[in-house]
Amino acid sequence: MNTLPCQGCKGLCCGPVPITDKERKLIHKKLKAMPKKLREGLAHQQRFPGTCIFYDVNHDRCGIHSFRPDVCRLFGYHEDLVCFRKPELATKGKAPIKERHVGYLSIDFTWKDFQ
Ligand code: SF4
Ligand code: SF4
Repeated sequence: MNTLPCQGCKGLCCGPVPITDKERKLIHKKLKAMPKKLREGLAHQQRFPGTCIFYDVNHDRCGIHSFRPDVCRLFGYHEDLVCFRKPELATKGKAPIKERHVGYLSIDFTWKDFQ
């Protein structure tokens, strides 16, 4: 199978990820448009230190899946973004990220930057 076996990992690889300014703005816009109850439910979850601020612990999935950063979309399929559970899927060359990253989610940007 050519898919990553993410189910059951419980966000194992969802640590601080780098984002571009465009991604920061998109995440901000989409979170603002999210129903308040959903957004606040996600914001106030208890996570292990180091886990991405957008990892949805309650549902075991990315809480911003449809607007997650490119690095998360490309993860597992490129030689510089290898999933250790299925390294054979990293058959593509370097991840095609052209824009400069402006910081890391969880470190440089936390929930207070997206309120
Ligand atoms: S990319 Fe790999 S480590 Fe990350 S959740 Fe999926 S299977 Fe697990
Ligand atoms: S944005 Fe989503 S996929 Fe990316 S690290 Fe955070 S929880 Fe994981």
